[in-house]
Amino acid sequence: MATDPRIVVAGAGIGGLALAQALHRHGVDVSVAERDRSPQTRGQGYRLHIDPDGNDALRRCLPPAVLDLVRDTSGVSGDRIAGYTDQLVEVMAQEFPDPPESEITNVDRDTFRAGLLTGLGPVVRFGTAVTGFEADGDRVRVELTGGSVEADLLVGADGVGSAVRRALLPHAGIQDLGLRCLYGRLPLTPANTALVPPDLLRGFSWAGLGPLGVGFAPVRLRTKVNGVSDYLMTTFVASPEQLGVDDGQLLAATPEHLHRLALDGVAGMHPTIRTLFDRSDPSSYLPIALRAARPVAPWATGPVTLLGDAIHAMPPTGGVGANTALRDAADLAECIIGAVADGRSLHDAVAAYEAVMLPRGFDTVAASLDLARRMFGTEIATG
Ligand SMILES: Cc1cc2nc3c(=O)[nH]c(=O)nc-3n(C[C@H](O)[C@H](O)[C@H](O)COP(=O)(O)OP(=O)(O)OC[C@H]3O[C@@H](n4cnc5c(N)ncnc54)[C@H](O)[C@@H]3O)c2cc1C
Repeated sequence: MATDPRIVVAGAGIGGLALAQALHRHGVDVSVAERDRSPQTRGQGYRLHIDPDGNDALRRCLPPAVLDLVRDTSGVSGDRIAGYTDQLVEVMAQEFPDPPESEITNVDRDTFRAGLLTGLGPVVRFGTAVTGFEADGDRVRVELTGGSVEADLLVGADGVGSAVRRALLPHAGIQDLGLRCLYGRLPLTPANTALVPPDLLRGFSWAGLGPLGVGFAPVRLRTKVNGVSDYLMTTFVASPEQLGVDDGQLLAATPEHLHRLALDGVAGMHPTIRTLFDRSDPSSYLPIALRAARPVAPWATGPVTLLGDAIHAMPPTGGVGANTALRDAADLAECIIGAVADGRSLHDAVAAYEAVMLPRGFDTVAASLDLARRMFGTEIATG
């Protein structure tokens, strides 16, 4: 019987926070342990595309005031995606009708995360990593930096490098797709905006040949908060060999060094591409490795489960990783809340969640990989 269960969530990322919002809102005892010392500790990226599934999940998870805040601080919708050669010759374009004003279509990642933290207060403990767990029947002892806590359920929402997944499913593998992205921002000041071809301000654009390429996407916030201004997200994608640095060097590189690597990489591309990278903010650059989870078979349900990138990490092609993490959060929250309300077993609630989450998650990984192969060409590593 699930009466007053205690839920511990590892990771205050997108999925973990959406789950915490939904459980907290329904009076379930939930706490979130986040490894980073604060939300500002680590740049995690810039623009996220939010699709109709993500919108639906946000509506199911968030209290109305938090949903309003997230919507009000989201980005103005674009109406186009396009592909170009590295000399900016258009090879494909697709236009979209305007979505309803109530729909969230893109967010600045840090602003979004700040919105998802609203009202959670002491529910989230920053600077507290989950280091392991010991399951015993229906209960779990969660090991944290600086102590341990007993719970009825541990949810690993701790991202692609998940410590919870490594302990629960040591056989689950993550494949390196052999591509690295250098992400930065071009502030959309009036002078910089004048340099951007108007079509590049209308949505996501990719320009390149095979795995070497650049991406652009604008974030124009409906309401500006926390000093964030409108920007054009810039990304340079290449293999470590093309970049000429190994992963150790990439991780140790300063943002300014990453900016120089991106500038070297676009040297042979169209002058407008070179200008946009040249004018982008050198201090904004961060590196990301493209990875994907290998499919795992269902496991015996117990007092530990997983959501989001912790179980089904995927490359950003398709822009569905965060949306899938949000769907997991909404489904798991509803299973738990329903079990608590009816006095049903938490075990069965988690089993019902996993039966939906696992095939959906890995279908989405497969679709994202397929898109990555088409976008970057056949050279993409899948071993
Ligand atoms: C460049 C890029 C662009 C993307 N664009 C899109 C997009 O447009 N749309 C989209 O839907 N998806 C996109 N994605 C994917 C999306 O970012 C992820 O799928 C999403 O963030 C997954 O959410 P999550 O909650 O599972 O994990 P995360 O958001 O990664 O959160 C995990 C959290 O766990 C914390 N943590 C890690 N280890 C521990 C530990 N041991 N203990 C406690 N806490 C821990 C981390 O610090 C982090 O805060 C993109 C990804 C990348 C890399």
